[in-house]
Amino acid sequence: MSTPITIALAGNPNAGKTTLFNTLTGARQHVGNYPGVTVEKKAGAYTFPTGEEATIIDLPGTYSLTAYSVEEVVARDYLVQEKPDVVINITDASNLERNLYLSTQFLELGVPMVIALNMIDVAQDRGISLDAQKLSALLQVPVIPIIARSGKGAAELMAAALELARKKAPWNPLHISYGEDVDLALHTMAQHITTAGFMKDSYTPRWLALKYLEGDSQIREKGRGNNPVVDAQLQEIVARVGEHLHKTMETYPEAIIADHRYGYITSVLRQEVITHKFDSDRLHASDRIDKILTNRFLGPIIMLAVLLGLYKFTFTYSQLPVSWLAAFFGWVSGNLSALLPDGHLKSMLISGVIDGMGGVLGFVPLIMFMFFGIAILEDSGYLARVAFMMDRVFRIFGLHGSSVMAYIVSGGIAGGCAVPGVMAARTLRSPRERLATLLTVSFMNCGAKLPVLALLTATFFSKNQAQLMFLLTLLAWGVALTAAKILRLTVLRGESTPFVMELPPYRFPTFRGLLIHTWERTWQYIKKAGTTILAISILIWAMMTFPGLPESEEQNFARQRQDVAASSAQTTEALQLEKQLAAIDTAQAGSALRHSLAGRIGTAMETVSWLPGFDWRTNIALVGGFAAKEVIVTTLGTAYSLGETDPEDNASLSETLARDPHWNPMVALALIVFVMFYAPCFVTVVCISRESGSWKWGLFSICFNTAFAFLLATLVYQGGRTLGFAG
Ligand code: GDP
Ligand code: MG
Repeated sequence: MSTPITIALAGNPNAGKTTLFNTLTGARQHVGNYPGVTVEKKAGAYTFPTGEEATIIDLPGTYSLTAYSVEEVVARDYLVQEKPDVVINITDASNLERNLYLSTQFLELGVPMVIALNMIDVAQDRGISLDAQKLSALLQVPVIPIIARSGKGAAELMAAALELARKKAPWNPLHISYGEDVDLALHTMAQHITTAGFMKDSYTPRWLALKYLEGDSQIREKGRGNNPVVDAQLQEIVARVGEHLHKTMETYPEAIIADHRYGYITSVLRQEVITHKFDSDRLHASDRIDKILTNRFLGPIIMLAVLLGLYKFTFTYSQLPVSWLAAFFGWVSGNLSALLPDGHLKSMLISGVIDGMGGVLGFVPLIMFMFFGIAILEDSGYLARVAFMMDRVFRIFGLHGSSVMAYIVSGGIAGGCAVPGVMAARTLRSPRERLATLLTVSFMNCGAKLPVLALLTATFFSKNQAQLMFLLTLLAWGVALTAAKILRLTVLRGESTPFVMELPPYRFPTFRGLLIHTWERTWQYIKKAGTTILAISILIWAMMTFPGLPESEEQNFARQRQDVAASSAQTTEALQLEKQLAAIDTAQAGSALRHSLAGRIGTAMETVSWLPGFDWRTNIALVGGFAAKEVIVTTLGTAYSLGETDPEDNASLSETLARDPHWNPMVALALIVFVMFYAPCFVTVVCISRESGSWKWGLFSICFNTAFAFLLATLVYQGGRTLGFAG
């Protein structure tokens, strides 16, 4: 005879465990104690209709799996150490929301589980009806309605448990997203835990990290004994995130975790799992707000209006400070130009550093306004609703609702970054959906693309900046979703998994929290501009300066100057002479730029880049943009600054572009589209490769995106020209 299957009954106190236990095992019970504690341990025997035997354990009732009480420690230790074949989670169907709090934790632990919806008789009396199938599909575990007292449904329940036990599936933990701060901490902690092999026999790294964040005393104590060094590292991360949450939201990790778990449950129940007959007036304030904000018809309209409002707000209020900063950089470069002697140092400082990086730093006010607006949406809880609504759309495109958050983090509204977006895709359990998300998040308008978009829209579409930004956002989502759909129909074909979005309650953002969030992100932007972007700017300046003009060309220009001087000696028109000499200077600067390493690369690329209307300067900028997209602005700034010879002229890059004959709105639009969709920046490519486990996918994203962007930009430019929009 084979060893009996072990089945553990777990659930909240008074959910009906003992009643079910008695129904199943009758008199075949054995009562003992768990070692070292006074908690009763009851085990019983059950025989399946097939003749197979099972040992059933009646675990102590608990509300949670965190070590708040002896019962919880006992129940958890039993699950983790004894690893029963199946856990039957008994829930009180008349009080489902609260009971699912424990179920969620079982899911997070990953135990093979069947949910028994007990007391459906009581639920019915209270006018609550439940859709067990829907609940089962959403949680991805079997859900069986039962009445423990009469034994109704018990046979089906045991059949489901037997089926699950036979599968012997490995534990498959659910990952709930706990918001950016906690997720990041969890991720870092899990990495430490994995690297150190910390307590690896019993718990998964993420689960351990979660327990540390929840302040689980038992786990912490074990951890300290196991490896004090790793324990201290983890404690430090916990302290750091705790402090941060306290500062920004006046809350603490445990509360955030509980909030998101309840959010998860709320959104499960809201997906037509539970219907109340009598108590519509008992809805919470958050639920009432959601009735409108996530309404099937009103919701999306409000969402679009909020988005447009955000852009209007950003572009309207940032215009003035942005122009101040531009004037300031013009003034600095004018003064420096007058102070410094001619030479490479002056050229590097003015053309490389100020005119290059100034372009990126000049948009700091705009970035700040944008981040402030997004912080309001995020801290109030509205962003979670956006994700909730977008889920319906995402499913059509073969993506998962968790992808929505990854898109938003990557810049789905504007100003994020694809790197954390790629990381956020970790919450996806299906590898194909995950890969489809990884490969498409970089289409969003991240913070690095913002200065490029801001520059070009301010120069060529200054009257409709907000509207254009709005349309470009929709375009980014449209392209990303279409690309995902194509991937899901071809290389990444497969089933889609159900999705449950966490909906935290609405709360009033604190002004302090908003300021901190805004500043943190703005500071990151400034820091990046001052380090990475500065270094690349100088490198590109050097590539645009060396090797310089060959001797023969230099002489050629010198001869031209002499000729002009000689011929005008007779006419004595001083003004005329100066103009002619300036024209020669400009020609020489332009020629030197074309002769430089970068100039040659850019010029060579013109053989194809004429199609979308890009000249060699733009080509250099786009190559540099692979290192970081902000570099596109800095490179254009440097290129036009190097070609500029009049020291009196302190025109901003925007003004220079506006009067350059090569540029027009069609070129700008083609460039915008190209920048939005071509190869992700280098760091993102590295992340995509790492997260997908293969360089193949990183390479794929470079080639696929660039080819697609080229096609689209060409269509825009050639289409626009054909229709007569540009010269
Ligand atoms: P435990 O704390 O989980 O062991 O819960 P018990 O098994 O002691 O049950 C708590 C109470 O709920 C008892 O009074 C049971 O009779 C009652 N109960 C259990 N299951 C059902 C059910 O399906 N329907 C109804 N109406 N009552 C039930
Ligand atoms: Mg009991």
